[in-house]
This record gives sequence, C-alpha cells and structure tokens, in this order.
Amino acid sequence: MNALGRHILVEFYDCSPELMNDVIHIENSMVAAAETAGATVINSTFHHFSPYGVSGVVVIQESHLAIHTWPEYGYAAVDLFTCGDSVDPWVSYSYLKEAFQSGHGSSMELRRGQLSLLKRNDFNLESLRDASAKTIESDGSITRDVWFTERDENIALSLKHTGNQLYKKDSDYQRVEVYETLAYGNMLTLDGMVMCTQKDEYVYHEMITHVPMLSNRSAKRALVIGGGDGGTVRELLRHEQLEEVTLVEIDELVIEACKLHLPETAVAFDNPRLNLLIEDGIKYIKECANEHYDLIIVDSADPVGPGEGLFTAAFYQEVYRCLTKDGVMITQSESPRFNSAVFVEIYDTYKKIFGQDKVYCYLAAIPTYPTGTWSFSYSAKGDAKPLQFDAEAAAAFSKKEGLKYYNEAVHTAAFALPNFVKELLNTKPEHVTDEYSAEPTSK
Ligand code: SAM
Repeated sequence: MNALGRHILVEFYDCSPELMNDVIHIENSMVAAAETAGATVINSTFHHFSPYGVSGVVVIQESHLAIHTWPEYGYAAVDLFTCGDSVDPWVSYSYLKEAFQSGHGSSMELRRGQLSLLKRNDFNLESLRDASAKTIESDGSITRDVWFTERDENIALSLKHTGNQLYKKDSDYQRVEVYETLAYGNMLTLDGMVMCTQKDEYVYHEMITHVPMLSNRSAKRALVIGGGDGGTVRELLRHEQLEEVTLVEIDELVIEACKLHLPETAVAFDNPRLNLLIEDGIKYIKECANEHYDLIIVDSADPVGPGEGLFTAAFYQEVYRCLTKDGVMITQSESPRFNSAVFVEIYDTYKKIFGQDKVYCYLAAIPTYPTGTWSFSYSAKGDAKPLQFDAEAAAAFSKKEGLKYYNEAVHTAAFALPNFVKELLNTKPEHVTDEYSAEPTSK
C-alpha cells in the first residue's frame, strides 16, 4: 500500500426508509460488514433519533466504519475507513448495499496518508506506548452501545439499550415499540415518545389514581380513557370500593406489547371488575350516559396523533357531562417546564368548563418524561377538594398496598406548587412566554 489508509465515501440511495430508521438492523449490519471484510471490531456506538434517523460508528482495529441515515430520503452517508491491507473495505460496501436494500450507490475511494507525502519521525516509539491502553477483549466480545433518543426541539433524552428490539409493530394509529433499556428496564414508546418504563412507571400510575381515590372515598364507578399499558387500572383496582372500572383504549397493540414485555404494569387486564373496551375514547364519551362516572381519568399520550382529540374543549365538555354531581376528572397535563404554552392552554380550558376555583394542579417527578417534572390536573364538578382527605387512611393504604411513590405526605406536597407554576396557572394563553419553557411557546 502506498498509503496508510483507504477511505471510501459512500452514498447509498433508494434504500428502504424502514431500514434506514431501524437502529438495530443498521448496527448489526455495520458490525457484520466490518467482520465480513476481515476487520477486528472493538466497539460500536449507535443512536436512534426520534422522530427518525440513525447515526453510528463501529470502531475496528483497522480504523472505523461510520453512518448517518435520512430515512425520509431513503439515503445513507457511509464512511468505510481501513488501514493496512488485511481488510478490503469494498467487501463491507457490497455487504451494506445489500443489507440496506439500496437501489443504487455511488462511492469514491481516497487513499489517506500518502506515504510519499509523509516523513516518519524517528523517535523512541516505546515512549509513546500508553501502558494503560485497553487491550482488545480477549473473549472477542465487543462493547456495543446502542442508544434510543427521544429528541424534541430543544431537549432530548437518550437511553442506552441492549440493542434487542423486544417489540415493534405499526397499528392503524401509531408505531408501538418496546426497548430493553439498561437504566430503566423495558420501555414502551409510541411514535418514538417514551410512554412508560418498568423502573419509573409507578410514579405516574400511583399519582394519577390514588390522589383522586383517597380524596373521594365514595367513588364507585371509574372510567380510564387511554392507559393501554395497564398501570392506571392496576392501581385503581387496588380500591375495593370501586364496583366498576372501565378502560377505553384505542389501540390493542399497546395492550399486547405491555402484556408481553411490561407484565407488572399489564397485570390487571383479567380482573373481573375491569370492563376493557378497544375503542376511540372520543367516540365513547360522546355516547356515554349523563352523570355515569364518579371518576374519569384521561391517561393519554401527548396531544399528537390519536390522542390529539383528548386535549380539546369539546372532549372535556363531554367528560363534564358524564361525571356525577360530585365527580372528578383527572388528566395527565403535560409539564409546565416542557412546553408552557400547552400547559397554560389546557388549564385555561379546564377552568372554562369546571370553573376557575374547581381546577387544581399537582406535580410528580418522572425521570423519563421530558424535563422530569410532570403534572396532573384535578377538576371537580362538585365540591370535592383534593386536599380534603383522610391522611391516616392514605398512610394505611400506601403501607398495605406496598406503594413505591404515593403516601399521605406526597399527596399533600404534590399540590405545593413552585411560584413559576402558580404564575403559569394564572397566565392567559395569549400572554404565555418562553420564560419557563424548554420548548418554544410560539408555534
Ligand atoms: N403515561 C403516558 C404518557 O403520559 O405519555 C400515557 C400512557 S398510555 C400508553 C396512552 C394511551 O392512550 C396509548 O395507549 C394510546 O393508544 C391511547 N390513546 C390515544 N388516543 C386515544 C383515543 N382517542 N382513545 C383511546 N385511547 C387513546
């Protein structure tokens, strides 16, 4: 070789957009492409970005292979860089062209480090040897870092996972996926957004249920709209006084994915007191009888896709109609820190329907949700007040049920709001600014 390295710049066109967004397939293909060409793989790091796109690098003893994909164009930019002549990078090129089902590719090989242009420095190489340099894993195992990233406009959450995609199906409404993360266990995502993880789901599910149930001990009938992971009904069914719990979930694949891979969350789907309906919650509430439910929990995802309609005044008006005189509506109300505009707007809507002094906000710390600060709303049709509850009964309930987050002190503390949240709750949608918001408040 008259050069230190061979660098092939590759453009893969007309690739399957599916594959260009599949971090698992891309990581496996890049590692296999290196090994097929005879390279010794040292480690790999791959990121799957939401809403789409993958970046990654495979470090080999003979240098590296790198990639960035644009699924929306069916395009991948790939770098194949090898040194020495034991590895033929063109073998990797052919392997990847097939693996990415690329319609056509163009490439250019550069010889890097032309020896004729280099002057070898004759100094004592031993002094360069880094005694602490990591030796290649003797058992041939390589460190493979594969990351899932939920990226919003200004903030992102990245979670390392094992690279095993436990579940991936497209329903009529959304993409349903389960990843095996290292920090939070199995994680359910819908359209690339984190819904719940095995290691922090209890925060959300205990706070969205026990706050209303412990402050409204006479509730007999409860309705959950959304909540296909099963965590909310699991917690509701701990309350023996509930005679009927109805769950209206639009997407049965969410239930299937959770029964398979988040079984502790999906544990109550066979409970005889549960009335499970696979249906659009917006249609269900329109057809529901007046004053039928004591508690209605809107356990929706974000205001996008099938869940968008669950954030409208028309929907909340129907919820109000279906609540008994002393009924309560609970919603997951996004984060005051994440997008203040959405937060302010939905509280403004609740107040218009339930009344200015009938709407309360409470907070909880959920590590895998954007900003980690999440909120819930408590809207009373009658005179129910969230802080009028029997603290002793709440303490006993938390102990008896072995709850991990909720207790009588947390119940009270959750309503102790920081000043910026109080300020947002008194802000009109037309006056909201970016002051407290991670995401831009103007469209
Ligand atoms: N805790 C999660 C969060 O805050 O992002 C939400 C969990 S739960 C998985 C949300 C569920 O709402 C999903 O299973 C989704 O399919 C369901 N959903 C969305 N739109 C719906 C609708 N119109 N009717 C009923 N369920 C709906």
